Amino acid sequence: MKGLMQDYQLSLDNIFRRAEQFYPDRTVHTGGPAPITMTYGEWAARTRRLGGVLDTLGITSDGRVGTFAWNSGRHLELYFAAPCTGRVLHTLNIRLFPDQIVYIANHAEDEVVFVDRSLLGLFLPLLDRLPVLKHVVVMDDLPPGAPGVEVPNDPRFHDYEELLAAAEPVEFHVADENQAAAMCYTSGTTGNPKGVVYSHRSTWLHSIGVLTNSAIGLAETDTVMPVVPMFHANAWGLAHASPMAGASLVFPGPDMSPQGILKLLQEQEVTLTAGVPTIWQGLLPLLDGVELPKLRRIPCGGSAVPAALSEAFREKLGKPILQAWGMTETSPVATAAHVPPRHADLPEEEKAKLRARQGVPLPGVEVRIVEPGSITELPWDDEATGELQVRGPWIAAEYYRPDEGVQLSTEDGWMKTGDVAAIDQFGSVRLVDRTKDLVKSGGEWISSVELENLLMAHPDVKEAAVIGVPHPKWDERPLACIVVQEGSSVTPEQILAYLEPQVAKWWLPDAVEFIDEVPKTSVGKFSKKDLRTRFANYHLE
Ligand code: ADP
Repeated sequence: MKGLMQDYQLSLDNIFRRAEQFYPDRTVHTGGPAPITMTYGEWAARTRRLGGVLDTLGITSDGRVGTFAWNSGRHLELYFAAPCTGRVLHTLNIRLFPDQIVYIANHAEDEVVFVDRSLLGLFLPLLDRLPVLKHVVVMDDLPPGAPGVEVPNDPRFHDYEELLAAAEPVEFHVADENQAAAMCYTSGTTGNPKGVVYSHRSTWLHSIGVLTNSAIGLAETDTVMPVVPMFHANAWGLAHASPMAGASLVFPGPDMSPQGILKLLQEQEVTLTAGVPTIWQGLLPLLDGVELPKLRRIPCGGSAVPAALSEAFREKLGKPILQAWGMTETSPVATAAHVPPRHADLPEEEKAKLRARQGVPLPGVEVRIVEPGSITELPWDDEATGELQVRGPWIAAEYYRPDEGVQLSTEDGWMKTGDVAAIDQFGSVRLVDRTKDLVKSGGEWISSVELENLLMAHPDVKEAAVIGVPHPKWDERPLACIVVQEGSSVTPEQILAYLEPQVAKWWLPDAVEFIDEVPKTSVGKFSKKDLRTRFANYHLE
C-alpha cells in the first residue's frame, strides 16, 4: 500500500520564507573593521533584491555564482539568492593556491564572482585566467575611506550595494528539490580538487539533521557564530540551519584573530560557536579568567579534536568541545560525539575519552567499516578497523563531472570516505586515521591520530603531528614532529618516556623532531603532506 502524503519539494526557498515570515526580528551581525547588524527581515528584503541582481547581470538559469568572501551577512544573502533563483552557489576557498582557485572556478564555470573588497588583492591576479567569468561584484567590507586595493576601471566590475539599490525584489520558487543548490570543492590532497554538488533536498535534510539535538542542536533562542568558513563545507550547515530555526547569526567578517573571535563571543553573547581545532587551540591562551556564561555548545571537527583541548575548554569555560565528523562530501555533518545517558555517571576522564571519538551517526546517516578494497563488513567491537563508508540523503553519490573517472561510491551504493575507523557496539565511530596518513610499519598499521592525541596531552607540547618516514627494515616508522609550548623545554627522551607506558612498544616513534609550527592546510588542518615533503629524506637507522 502506498503512502498518501503530498510530494512536497524540499527546497531552500522554504527555509528562506521561514526566516522572512517567522523570525523577522532575529539578527545577523557581521564583525570586523566595518561591523553591520541587520534583522532577518532586512536580510530577506535584500536577498530578494539580490535575486533581481542576478537576473540583471544575465546569469543563466542554472549558472554558477561564485563567492570569494569571508563569513558575513552579505555572504548569507548569496547563500539563498543564488539557489532560490535556480542558480548554483559556488563558494571558493580563499586560502587555496592561485592555480587551484583558477582550476576550480574554471571547472565549475563560474559566471560571476562576488568578492569582499578586503580580498580583492588576492583575486585580481587571477582574473585574466578566468575566461568564463562575466562579472565581478565587489562587496565593500572595509570602513568608508579605508585604504584598500583599487577596484579596476573595467565594465565587468560592479559595486554590490549599488546593484542592490537599483534592483527589484523577486519571488523565489524552486520546482524540483533535486536541482543543484550549491557546489564546494574538496581541497584535494591527491590529484585535482573535486567538486561536490549539493541539491536543495540534500541541503534541506542536512539542515534538519544539524538542528537535531543529537547533532549540533540549535534553536530560536540561540545566537550562532560559525567561525568555520562559509567556503569550507557550507559552514557545516549552520548558515542554513540558523535561519531555519530562527537563531540569530554572528559572523566574524575578515577578523579571524583569536582576539576578534573572543570579542564577538563576549559582546554578542554567542550561545553556540563552531570551528576547526586550530581555532580553539588559538583561543585557549586568552581564556584565563574569561567567563562566557551564555556559551553552551562548541561543535568542532574537520580534524581530530584532542581530548586535552576539549578538557582545557571544560576546565576554563565549563564546556567541553562537541566533536563532530564529516567531509565536504557528506554536506558535511555525519556523526557527533555526545556523551549518552548510559555513560552519564562515568568519571570525567572516561567521558573525555568518549568525547575524543567521532561519535554516532546523525538520523538518516548510516555507517559501516569494511576491509580495505572490499565490501566485506567488519564487526562493531571497537577493535576491528577498516575503511569507513557512509550512506544517506546528504551523502554525495559522485563528484561533479563523474566522467573524469574518480569513483566515490562502492558497487552497492556506499560512499568511500578514505578514513579508517573502528565502531563500538553502540554505533560510535572512532577514527583511527586517514588511509593515507596511517604509518605502515612492517606491514602493520600505526595510527598517527592516536599518537598525536597522546602527545598533545603532554603539558609541554603545543602541537604534535606524526608522519611515517622511510625505514630500511620496516618500510616506514613514525616520526613525531613537536611544537613545544612557549617557555617550556623538553627533550626527545622525555617525550618518548612519556609515551612508553601508553602505547604498544612498536608504536613508539623512532625519533622526535622539534619544529616551530605544524604546517596547516587551507582550512586550518595539519598538513601532513607538507610535513612528509619536509622530512622525505629523513634518515632512520
Ligand atoms: P579536505 O580533504 O580538504 O580536508 P574535508 O574538509 O572534507 O576536506 O575533510 C574531510 C576529512 O577531515 C575527513 O575525511 C577526515 O579525515 C577529517 N575529519 C573531519 N572531521 C574529523 C574529526 N572529527 N576527527 C578526525 N578527522 C576528521
